[in-house]
Order: sequence, then structure tokens, then C-alpha cells
Amino acid sequence: MEIHRVLLLLGSNLGDRTEKLASARSLLLQSVGPVVQASREYETEPWGDFAGGETPGPFLNQAIAVETALGPEAVLDAIQQIERELGRPEHRPEYAPGGKRLYHDRAIDVDILFYDSEIIDTKRLTVPHPRLAERHFALEPAAEIWPDYVHPSLKISLKELFNSILLGDSQ
Ligand code: ATP
Ligand code: CA
Ligand code: CA
Repeated sequence: MEIHRVLLLLGSNLGDRTEKLASARSLLLQSVGPVVQASREYETEPWGDFAGGETPGPFLNQAIAVETALGPEAVLDAIQQIERELGRPEHRPEYAPGGKRLYHDRAIDVDILFYDSEIIDTKRLTVPHPRLAERHFALEPAAEIWPDYVHPSLKISLKELFNSILLGDSQ
């Protein structure tokens, strides 16, 4: 049986955020596989525009590495099941009139940042996560646990990528 290494980003800005991250880790252990590494939990400012004009509260973000025998789409199924279990309501992505994505507060969000060194682009799944390189809140925890992992399409390490956005002006 082949074992794959997956880097996930957990995020929460509703309710007991520490408890939501802990519950997500234990559900991931049950349905995806062992959590073999975890970054510290970073308190981060919300990124992007939010629906409804409300000011969202800060997020708690954590990167974790999971070992799994599941394929990428099965990992996505499992994380979406966990999001539902932890009380994230289902809604389709919303967009502002100009086409910009509008985000919602969420009890839990689990994104697949990397799946081994695969590049995946299907209707349901884009891996590496397409907005990783512009997100300080995702790159910092990812680079903490996988500093020398080489981004399969950008071809630079996460440590180098993080340093490069620190020098730039992206959030
Ligand atoms: P963002 O992707 O900008 O972080 P989000 O996490 O709020 O936004 P969701 O509403 O959680 O977005 O997910 C929308 C869809 O994104 C999901 O239904 C899923 O099919 C798709 N998706 C594509 N690539 C990925 C990925 N790498 N990890 C998780 N979901 C993904
Ligand atoms: Ca996300
Ligand atoms: Ca998501």
C-alpha cells in the first residue's frame, strides 16, 4: 500500500477556535490518517473580502502533515465531511459583482496545500493550493513544518517562497 504525504491548512474564526482545530485533527486521524507533524497555531487577520459586509474576527491557522493511503479526491471528500461535522454550513462560493470571491466566517476550513509532489487540476481540486503563494497566513505555518519542500510548480522551497513574500507587499 502506497503512503502519501499531504500538507493541510486548518483555519477557524468562529466559536472555540482551538477546540475546532483539535477536533479537526482527531477526525483527520480517524478518516484520513496519522497527523505526523503540526505547526504552531497562528493567530492571523482575515484575508480577502467577506460576504455581508460584517467585520470577521481573527483566524487561528495551523498546517499539519498527514500520512494517508487515500487518493487526492478521497482526501477532499473526507475533509469536506469533517467540515460538515464541525458545523460549517454548506454554501457555494460567492462572488462580488466584479468577480472577486467573497468569504464567510467559518468554524473550520481544511484546505489541501500539497499532495506528495503532485500537480492536480480537476473540477473539484487544484493542488498545490492556487492561492498559497499570496497568503502569508498559509505560507508561514507551511514553511515552519516543511521548510525544504520544493513547491512542485514554482520550483522553490517553502522557506524561500515565504522569505520572498516577506520582502514583497502581499499579506
Ligand atoms: P480558498 O480556496 O480561497 O481558500 P475556501 O477555502 O473558502 O477558499 P471553500 O468554500 O472551502 O473555499 O471550497 C470551495 C471549493 O474549493 C471546494 O468545494 C473544493 O472542491 C475546491 N477546492 C479546489 N482545490 C482545493 C484544495 N486544494 N483544497 C480544498 N478545496 C479545494
Ligand atoms: Ca481556504
Ligand atoms: Ca476550503
